[in-house]
Amino acid sequence: MNWIKKFLNEFKDFALKGNVMDLAVGVIIGAAFKDIVTSLTENFINPILNFLTGATGWRFYSWPEIAAFGSAFLTAVINFVIMAFILFCIVKLVNSLTNIKLKKEDEKPEEPAAPTTKVCPYCLTEIAIGASRCPHCTSELNQ
Ligand SMILES: [Zn+2]
Repeated sequence: MNWIKKFLNEFKDFALKGNVMDLAVGVIIGAAFKDIVTSLTENFINPILNFLTGATGWRFYSWPEIAAFGSAFLTAVINFVIMAFILFCIVKLVNSLTNIKLKKEDEKPEEPAAPTTKVCPYCLTEIAIGASRCPHCTSELNQ
C-alpha cells in the first residue's frame, strides 16, 4: 500500500506545480472559445451565407430573427467572459495555496552546517578541522 501513497504524493506535486493547471486552463479556454466561434458561425456567417447563396430561399431575415442571432452570440461571449473570470479566480486560489505551501517549506529550520573548525587540545586555538598539525603551537594532532 506504500507505493500507492507515494504515487499519490507524486501526482499531487505534479498537479500543483502549475503544468497541469496551465494545461487544464488551456483546454477549458479552448473549449469555451470554440463555443464563441460556433455561435459566430451559426448566428452570423450561416445566415449571411444562406441569404447570399439563396440556400433557404431568397428572403430577408426579420428583425426578431436578427435580434435572436445577436443575443445568442452575445450569450456565448458573456459565457466565455464569466468562465474566464471564474477560471482566473481558481488559478489565483491554487497559486496562493501553492505559495502558502512553499512558504511553509521555507520556514523549516535549516540543518546546522557541518563544523569546519576544531580546537587544538594543546593550545586551545581554533584550527581547520582537517589539520594534522596545529599552525599555532605546531603540535601534531592524531585524528
Ligand atoms: Zn595548538
